[in-house]
Amino acid sequence: MNINSGKERFKERVREWGDKLEVPVTSITVRPMKTKWASYSTTGRLTFDALLPEMTKELQVYVIVHELLHSRVPNHGKLWKSLMRAHLGDYEELETELREMAHNKKGGDLKLTVSL
Ligand SMILES: [Zn+2]
Repeated sequence: MNINSGKERFKERVREWGDKLEVPVTSITVRPMKTKWASYSTTGRLTFDALLPEMTKELQVYVIVHELLHSRVPNHGKLWKSLMRAHLGDYEELETELREMAHNKKGGDLKLTVSL
């Protein structure tokens, strides 16, 4: 399997969730990111770390939904958490997993954890 097909499948997944959550997605970029797994701009531009298409579907969906929900809730407060739970169920384990991967990826720099 080549990297491109994984990337395209990942982008397709982003579009699907955008439709499902009714969040406008104007562009999807996948590239190596230094300090984050992903980001969402208010104009609907999404950027994801290049490692994500290689990860499990569950982790991909966590990051996708995490970012898309920021179109409605700009923080990680109560409302955001309840929306996360509504769409993903118990998501905390995935969050922990990503945080651990971030440590490995960034050589253990605690500042560069899972900031999304
Ligand atoms: Zn976030």
